[in-house]
Amino acid sequence: MSIHKPSVPDIQPHHSKSTLFCRSCEHASPIDGDWIADDSVHRERRLCPRCSAVVVDQPAT
Ligand SMILES: [Zn+2]
Repeated sequence: MSIHKPSVPDIQPHHSKSTLFCRSCEHASPIDGDWIADDSVHRERRLCPRCSAVVVDQPAT
């Protein structure tokens, strides 16, 4: 009888807080890097330059 013990590593962003990661393609770049800013919405939105996934989407400050 096998015991299913989830081995989920406790992933913490130890490195620079200003680095963003795309959840779709794992593209990584500084927050002011090559992310595409979507100016068509009144939000702080960044799109991935590789797969166009939304990486950041929060109310504009
Ligand atoms: Zn991506």
